[in-house]
Amino acid sequence: MILIDGKTTAKKVFDKIKTETENLEKKPAIAVIIVGNDPASKIYVNRKHKKAKEVGINSLVIEFDENISQEELESKINELNNDDSINAILVQLPLPKHLNTYRIIEKILPIKDVDGFHPENAGKINIGIEAYAAPCTPLGVMTLLDEYKINPEGKHAVIIGRSNIVSKPLASMLLSKNATVTICHSKTHNLKEIASTADILVVATGKANMVTSDYVKQGAVVIDVGISRDKDGKIHGDVDFDNVAEKTSYITPVPGGVGAMTIAMLMQNTLRLYKIQRGQK
Ligand code: NAP
Repeated sequence: MILIDGKTTAKKVFDKIKTETENLEKKPAIAVIIVGNDPASKIYVNRKHKKAKEVGINSLVIEFDENISQEELESKINELNNDDSINAILVQLPLPKHLNTYRIIEKILPIKDVDGFHPENAGKINIGIEAYAAPCTPLGVMTLLDEYKINPEGKHAVIIGRSNIVSKPLASMLLSKNATVTICHSKTHNLKEIASTADILVVATGKANMVTSDYVKQGAVVIDVGISRDKDGKIHGDVDFDNVAEKTSYITPVPGGVGAMTIAMLMQNTLRLYKIQRGQK
């Protein structure tokens, strides 16, 4: 079994970005909008802000009270769309329930949509053509597969989960690399049987340790996207690592696997959008 090391792979990406930004007169810039006081969201936004600075990307965090109206938030996005000093816009999700997330994401200019959630970018990924930016977590998974020379072509990839931010774009990306893709979800019958036919098994459910060794084919590649925190604050993946690892050929740990890649891909996307906007890509 080979452990897929997200931290080391992410560091390579950060180092490469840092080297590139050092030579730039004008730095790339990302604006991150956060609404309300969700502690997890605050932690994520602070991490993004800190990492951006470390790799030579300017970061602007814009905080709003949780009662902000749809119109006010959309107007801020319009302002950022028209601000040439901002290359990338990210709205930290989830948003409070009174806000229409889809409409807000749709307001971001696709060329500044660093999360790749805008329907234009999502659509491009779905039809297999290059988007301005691709969603960071699935892009992180694809980067890890590439780094470890795991070629999806001809393999059966089973994804457990059907979210718009992780699983659906990942399915499209794997399909573009010629995998045979099966998407499972909470209404799937015979989940265990399907999962155990996977050459590449990706789990993105948010259900701590739900995947045990009977879900896994001998020699499979197992990618664990899940992040759940128990009452003691310990982080768990969706895969019961100790039970599953020895059966796999490659496996991502949690933490230190996919999660470590997400911010790296965010920074990579920011630099990419900067270059696209300057006609350098
Ligand atoms: P999500 O929107 O919460 O959706 C979870 C998906 O899992 C749903 O499609 C759901 O099916 C399915 N599911 C839940 N329980 C299941 C079960 N027992 N059997 C089969 N399918 C089941 O998911 P997400 O946003 O993709 O996030 C998934 C996990 O990844 C979470 O732990 C999240 O924290 C983590 N995550 C990590 C990163 C990272 O940087 N590593 C980034 C994003 C998310 P239904 O559609 O039928 O309800």
